Amino acid sequence: MTSSHGTASTTAELAPGVSIPLIGLGTWPMTGEEATDAVARAIGNGYRHLDTAENYANEEAVGEGIRRSGIDRGEIFLTTKFNKEWHSRDGVRQAFGNASKRLGTEYLDLFLIHWPNPSQGRFVEAAEALKELADEGLIRSWGVSNFKPVHLRKLEEAGLAAPINQVQIDPEHAQAEQLAFHREHGILTAAYSPLGRNGGFMSAPAVTGPAQQYGKTPGQIVLRWQVQSGRVAIPKSANDARQRENLDIFGFALTAGQLAAIDALDTGAGPRLDSDEFGH
Ligand code: NAP
Repeated sequence: MTSSHGTASTTAELAPGVSIPLIGLGTWPMTGEEATDAVARAIGNGYRHLDTAENYANEEAVGEGIRRSGIDRGEIFLTTKFNKEWHSRDGVRQAFGNASKRLGTEYLDLFLIHWPNPSQGRFVEAAEALKELADEGLIRSWGVSNFKPVHLRKLEEAGLAAPINQVQIDPEHAQAEQLAFHREHGILTAAYSPLGRNGGFMSAPAVTGPAQQYGKTPGQIVLRWQVQSGRVAIPKSANDARQRENLDIFGFALTAGQLAAIDALDTGAGPRLDSDEFGH
C-alpha cells in the first residue's frame, strides 16, 4: 500500500513503482457518448483508474473521455484487455498497438488477457508476450482476467507470476478457493461486478446494519468490504451521485465482525461464466 487518506490506503502496489488505485471506474456496457460522458464525469469526480476492454467496443470513447476531462494522461491508471485472437507473440504486440491507437495513448498502465480460452491453448504464449511488453516499458504492468488456479499454475510452470487477476467477486460470490490461491501466490485480486450488479445482498442486514451505523449506502459498505479485504474494485456507474459515493469509502472502516458478517453471505456459487467453457 503506497499512500494513505482518511483511515485507509487508496492504492495498492502492483509492481515495483506501479501503484493501482483501489477503486476504478468500470466502463462496460457503456459505449459512445455515454461512455465518454461517464469517464469525463468520473475523472471530474476524482477517479484516477479506468477499466475498459477491446471487447467492450468503447476504447475510443474512453480515450475521448480522458481527453475531455482535461487531465494529464500521467494522472490516470488505464487498464484494457485483449481478445483470444491475439494470443500469440506477434498478436499481443498487435493488440497493444490497436488498443493504444483506439485509446489515443502511447502506453498502458495495465494490459490483461481477458479470458484464458484454455481450449485454444495459447494463454502462456500470450502472457510471455505481455511480459515482454512490460519489460520494454510499453505497458507499466501486465495481468490476467478470469484465470482459475489451474490456469495460473500453468503460467507459474512457465516461470510467469501474474501480478493481478481480475475476477468476479461479490459478497454472494466470494470464490474462497480462488482468493486463497491469490493470497498464497502473491497475486493481487481485482473484483469485477463488485456490487453484484446491484445484487440482492445490498439489502442484507450484514450490509444495511453498517450502512446505518456509519451513515453510508449499501454500495459503499460492499465496496469498503472489497478494499478492506485487500482487493481492487471496479464498480460501473454512469450516475453522478453513485460515482461519487462509490469512491467515497476511505473515511471509515468496518470492524472485523462486520467484515466476517459480509463474508458469511457467500453462497459458494461460482462466477456467472465458467472460463473453461466461455471466453472471447
Ligand atoms: P457492478 O459494477 O457490480 O454493477 C453495476 C450496476 O450497479 C450498474 O447497473 C450501476 O447502475 C449500479 N450501481 C453502481 N453503483 C451503485 C451503487 N452504489 N448502488 C446501487 N447500484 C449501483 O457490475 P459490472 O458492471 O458487471 O462490473 C463492473 C465492471 O467490471 C464493468 O463495467 C467492467 O469494466 C468490468 N467487468 C469485467 C469483466 C471481465 O471479464 N474481466 C466482466 C464483467 C465486468 P448506474 O450506472 O445507474 O449507477
